[in-house]
Amino acid sequence: MSEVIYVNGEFLPKDQAKISVFDHGLLYGDGVFEGIRFYGRNIFRLEEHLERLYSSAKYIMLKPPKSHQELIELTAETCRRNGHDDGYIRLIVTRGEGTLGLNPYACTEPGLIIIASKIQLYPQEYYEKGLPVIVAATRRFSPDGLSPRVKSLNYLNNIMAKMEAIHSGVQEAIMLDQSGFIVECTGDNFFIIRKGVVFTPPTYQGALRGVTRDAVIEIAKEKGIEVREERLTLYEAFEADECFLTGTAAEIIPVIAIDRRPIGDSKPGPITGDLIAAFRKITTEQGVKF
Ligand code: PMP
Repeated sequence: MSEVIYVNGEFLPKDQAKISVFDHGLLYGDGVFEGIRFYGRNIFRLEEHLERLYSSAKYIMLKPPKSHQELIELTAETCRRNGHDDGYIRLIVTRGEGTLGLNPYACTEPGLIIIASKIQLYPQEYYEKGLPVIVAATRRFSPDGLSPRVKSLNYLNNIMAKMEAIHSGVQEAIMLDQSGFIVECTGDNFFIIRKGVVFTPPTYQGALRGVTRDAVIEIAKEKGIEVREERLTLYEAFEADECFLTGTAAEIIPVIAIDRRPIGDSKPGPITGDLIAAFRKITTEQGVKF
């Protein structure tokens, strides 16, 4: 069965789902998006994803063409029409069709695309054995220019770091901010565990407020594990007992080496394992059913 995609008011088969070449989403990366997973016909934390979408849109002064409630219904309907029980949603709001100049006010109306498909980010073996990562030379861009917390359609900064990872023979790269503190990875939030305490960089430092990050923080606290949102240097990362990354596509993935330094005993750690098990449980419970 061909996938059905929602594009600007219509549900269309994949090969007919098209947008204008004058859409500023394409011309300038002018737009915002969300990556959302569904598990057993439950769209995990859809409301939280939409909240973040509206925050990103507000920052760039873009008004999504649908209300929060309408977006919930359209997203659920896109899932229903595609017949997958588990999968990955890409929800995109673009500035819309405009002229060849930058002026966003020349764009007629915002575009809306919803895709409900499948994704696997890292090969399965890394979930079992853990992921080696590098530290990218490419720094996360400064909030002076644009807040890195905006989930915009321009991911070139992250893509440059991702290429560094691939060129080094690994899947993922840690990105530092302009002062050399760890912010996050190219598409995932970053966590370490040291002496039973979970640490992650604070969002005001520029890390995306990951929906998975929030879920993991909540789970850890419920388990009575102390969680600290603190600036972290590579020193803290290298001496950590455990390390893991979180993201909608990645879920929770253990990290076993950073720039060739083994983390802990080079195996996925026990607390990480407990968090993964608890996370799996809530993925089918919290969210919007379709
Ligand atoms: N950081 C960046 C840069 C991301 O693109 C993402 C989403 N892929 C994340 C963190 C993780 O966020 P979430 O858990 O909401 O997917």
